[in-house]
Amino acid sequence: HADIAMYCAKKLGRNNFQFYTPVMNEESMERVRIESALRNALERNEFVLHYQPQVDLKTGKIVGMEALIRWQHPEMGMVPPIRFIGIAEETGLIVQIGAWVMRTACAQNKAWQDAGLGKLRVAVNLSARQFGAPDLIAGLESVLLDTMLDPDCLEIELTESLFMSDVTPAVELLHRMKSLGVNLSIDDFGTGFSSLSYLSRFPIDVLKIDRSFVADITIDANDAAIVTSIIGLAHNLKLAVIAEGVETLEQLDYLRSHGCDEIQGYFFSKPLPAGEFEAMLREGRCLPAPQQTEPEADA
Ligand code: C2E
Ligand code: MG
Ligand code: MG
Ligand code: MG
Repeated sequence: HADIAMYCAKKLGRNNFQFYTPVMNEESMERVRIESALRNALERNEFVLHYQPQVDLKTGKIVGMEALIRWQHPEMGMVPPIRFIGIAEETGLIVQIGAWVMRTACAQNKAWQDAGLGKLRVAVNLSARQFGAPDLIAGLESVLLDTMLDPDCLEIELTESLFMSDVTPAVELLHRMKSLGVNLSIDDFGTGFSSLSYLSRFPIDVLKIDRSFVADITIDANDAAIVTSIIGLAHNLKLAVIAEGVETLEQLDYLRSHGCDEIQGYFFSKPLPAGEFEAMLREGRCLPAPQQTEPEADA
């Protein structure tokens, strides 16, 4: 460990030197700016959730949604998650922000159910930092109790980073989450460096195929092989599988003919503000029926 600490110190030293180049300076200034604005964002009500539909490939119907946070800052405008989630994680602010996301997403989903828009599922991203927070279970319990959402309608998205070596106490926590009745999914599946063995040891319900594999599925045989293998892996383990980032009809057809359960992506819809999502539900929008071509052989 001393060696590693020394190595890190050296690396840091080198980075600190780079830190003062003009480019890094701008970046670090933006970082500081975001960090301080982030501290007030919750109380100033600057966050909203957008919802992206998840569509069943057998029925073509919307069966769920993923809640995705958006930050509307008065001066910086719409700040995308990629620019602030990492900072929120490092500063620990993600714990409060994530609690707000969980409560808001569950309450919204219950409201849609109560309005007769269907028994849909809502997926919420949970960062590793939230996972380690002491009141995770109590917080989930109180959200479920307060919103009266059926826990089976809540899906919690975890990332593979949770399953890497030193966080192994996670098993017990995952079982406690499961015992609340919620579903657990693995987000961005295939992009982490974790061992596959966690899939048999942890109570997971769903794999979400990362969109980087889906992007070239119809032109790159290797990506296609990875995706069909993930679908097979999921089904052999009795897990459901969702493909993320589906943008074209060709990708959709490929996934449908290879037995993927659900899709999420721009082809069907971008993440939408609650009002627009609700309008889409009221319209009863569905996927186009499969094209009438011969059943596809694996080629
Ligand atoms: P994610 O959980 O993997 O969410 C999917 C991301 O892919 C979303 O980006 C979504 O807008 C985008 N996406 C969906 N369909 C397509 C498509 O067809 N093509 C392309 N190119 N992109 C598509 P978004 O909303 O910018 O979120 C980025 C990431 O930020 C999320 O990735 C998630 O890791 C994180 N994030 C978002 N909201 C939350 C949150 O409430 N809590 C936490 N902890 N993380 C969040
Ligand atoms: Mg996600
Ligand atoms: Mg993710
Ligand atoms: Mg993802």
